[in-house]
Parts: sequence; C-alpha cells; structure tokens
Amino acid sequence: MIEKKDLLARFASYSPHVDATALELSWDFAAKAHADQHRASGDRYLTHCAAVADSLIEWRMDLPTVCAGLLHDTLEDTATTEAQLRAEFGEEIAKLVVGVTKLDALKFETRDEAQAENWRKMLLATAQDIRVIVVKLADRLHNMKTLSFLKRDRQERIAAETMALYAPLAHRLGMFKLKSELEDLAFVYLHPAEHDELARKVGARLAESEKRLVEVKTSIEKVLAAAGIPCRILARTKTLWSLYQKMERQDKPFEEIQDALGVRLITGTVADCYALLGIVHTHFKPVAGSFTDYVSTPKLNLYRSLHTTIVAPSGEVVEIQIRTEEMHRTAEYGIAAHWRYKIGEQAKDAHLEEKLNWLRQWIEWLQDLNSPREFLDSLKTDLEFHQVFVFTPAGEVKALPEGATPLDFAFAVHTEVGWACVGAVVNNKMVRLDHPLHSGDICRILTKKGSTPKKDWIGLVKTARARSKIRHWLREHGVET
Ligand code: MN
Repeated sequence: MIEKKDLLARFASYSPHVDATALELSWDFAAKAHADQHRASGDRYLTHCAAVADSLIEWRMDLPTVCAGLLHDTLEDTATTEAQLRAEFGEEIAKLVVGVTKLDALKFETRDEAQAENWRKMLLATAQDIRVIVVKLADRLHNMKTLSFLKRDRQERIAAETMALYAPLAHRLGMFKLKSELEDLAFVYLHPAEHDELARKVGARLAESEKRLVEVKTSIEKVLAAAGIPCRILARTKTLWSLYQKMERQDKPFEEIQDALGVRLITGTVADCYALLGIVHTHFKPVAGSFTDYVSTPKLNLYRSLHTTIVAPSGEVVEIQIRTEEMHRTAEYGIAAHWRYKIGEQAKDAHLEEKLNWLRQWIEWLQDLNSPREFLDSLKTDLEFHQVFVFTPAGEVKALPEGATPLDFAFAVHTEVGWACVGAVVNNKMVRLDHPLHSGDICRILTKKGSTPKKDWIGLVKTARARSKIRHWLREHGVET
C-alpha cells in the first residue's frame, strides 16, 4: 500500500504550489472512518482508498478530486454523514463524494447494448461533474484488480458491468490506457478459458516479436540519430482483449491474425513531429494511403498524432505514430490530462467549470454520433443534459427530455402501448397523464384494448416521437388537429 507521505509527495510533484492540507486530513479521516473494516482480500480497507487516490494522482487530478478519492466510500460504508463531510472538507469535496455515492446506488442488470448506452448517459447525467466519473473509474479499476477475492457470481456481474459501462466511459473520456486496462481485467472473468489460452499463445510468441521489434527500432534509431532530433521510441503492444476482438471480427484463430508491429516516436515540438515524419518517409517506403494527420486535425476526443505505415528493410510492415510528449499524455489519459492543465499556481482554475461544461456537451455529442438522425431530432427538444431517466417495471431505462410525461414514456416503450394508453402508475401510485416524470421513477403504463389517442394528447407530450405518432394516428383516422 502507498503510504501517506508518498501520496503527498506524488501529488506535490505536479502541484507544487497547492496547499495539500486537505489531502492529509482526508487521509486521516478515511483511516479513522474505515479503521475496523477490511477488504475481501483481508487487507485494511484504507488500502482501497489509497489505491483510488493513487490512480487519481497518476492522472494528475486536482486536489478536491484526490481528496474525494480517499473519502469516496465514507458515506456508503461508515457512519459518516454528508453534513460532517461538508463541515470538515467544504462544499466541493463533499459534493464529489455524494456524487460517487449516488452512482454506487445504481445497479446495472442488463447486457443489452442499447440499454447500456442509456445507462452510460444516466451515469453521466447523475454525476453532473465529470470528476465524479473519474473517481468512480479509479474505484472500479482497483475493484477489478482485486476481483479475484470475490465469489464467482459477483466477479461475473462486476466484470460485465465494467465491460458494458465503465470501459466505454473511459474511452469516451479519451482515457485509452485505462480503457484497455479495464477491458483486459474484465476479459479474465468473462471468458476465462479464452483469456488463458490467448495469454499463453501471446506469451509464447513474445520472444519472437521482441526480436522483430528490436530490429525495427534499431533501423529507425539509426536514421533518426543522424538527424539530431531528440526523440524516444516506444513499442506499441496490443492488449489481449483487442486481439480477441480482432479474432472474433475476422473469425480467425490467433495464428492467422496479422500482427503489424507498432512503434511510437515521442518528441518535443509539433515542428519536430513533421521533421521526424519527413525523415521516416525519406528512408523507408511508406504504404500508400496510410498517412493520416491527426495533428492538424485532431480527433473529437482531442487525440493528436501523425500516423503512417512503412515497410522496414526486413520487409516488415510497421505502423508508426508520431507525437509530442503533451499529445502522448492526452492519448494515454484523455480528458484527465487536459482540464487540469495549468491549474496549480492559484489552486483554483477560474475556467474549470466552463471547461467541464464544455466536456459534458462534447461527451453528449459524441454519444450521439452513432445515430446522427436521432441526434438531430433530439436537438429540437431533448437538449443536452436536460434529460430524465425512467425505468420500466422490468428495469429497462428510457432517456426522456425533462418534463416528459407518462404518455412520452408509453410511446418510448412501444407505439402500440402509446396508442392504447389509458393511465399510468409511477412508483406504485396512479398519476395523471400529464404528470412530469423524474429520474429514477418506475413507470407502468396501463392500456386498454380498443382505446385510442385523444386530440388533447398533443399538448401533453414533450418528445417529437410521441407527438408525431399521435398526429399520425389522428390523421389516419380523420381527426382534425
Ligand atoms: Mn470503493
């Protein structure tokens, strides 16, 4: 377990001007609150809090986030109250801990991809503050690393949830390193036999691919050294889960998967990136059409790099990514690397809130890129985070705009259900059809055979979908609207 003084030193290494008293207090508070508790592994509970804080420090999160990491389980698992946290640590840290606790209360049960998407949205909406999600991801990472101590059924449930919810969230936040780590950890428990077999085969091939890699690195190093541009060369390795997915996608055994070598050149400046690219292309034959410039045109998630593929003297095909140190940080840590940029001197970034808002919008937007049509529709009414998440009695979650009514919900479930709707029960209580729904409500729609839409329904619905379905029915049946 990391010790308190090491944690403080690690934090100070990137925040030298921040007063870290709160961090010390958080450590002591967590140690006391969890004093009698142990993890399934038998370790003191504090090891979990410390590991979570340690990840947050690795991602260079700000002070309140790291404190919240230490305190994240105090509300759920100890006698600590929200008021106590607020009094000891202030509003910001207390709010983050409350946020994480709220997420813990949501239990994900389905394996349906479309439902998983709604759950991810709900997590983001519930979190309000992206930092809450980041703490939750650090929490999940440590829980996955210590999953072997739990019973088989819980292992499976937690691994499935990690694969469906948390790894995609990490991906959306641009935290690629974390995403692959979570996937590979979940892979162990979701497909144990396949995982072990693949790990064994990759291990057996390791010596050979190391040798190929050294050859390629040496030949690249030779031409780069002559140019005098400072740069380090890293090997890029494929994760087991991504290999497994490739096998599934191409329906091929491991032995037939083409395993292109991947190399990264990390340098100081953008100008050096292009200079390195020029040198590489002069000395090695580039594969036609392989060059992509994500430096001048970054990806939506802020990823930047130059990509090219060359043929090495040995005939080997090598994928090369060229980037600056800063781009490399963004590629590994994503959003976490970004918004903290330049916080420190004043301890508080005046634009933090602004940036977080922007991030939220960006995430929302990215989520909807899969279905641009639906995205355009939703822009009309269901703007951004003004959404509520309502459950069917079977536990499916539907995302609706704020102010949506049971009628909107009925049409979201099924058109026929909407048409025949005669009433609704929300949280076991009968409600009117214009009753506004709230996140977490469980809504049951009452239908009656032969019942039909009414003209005044159009005024009761908020979603474009319900409105057009009602209009459609009325038109078909000759009712003036
Ligand atoms: Mn925890």
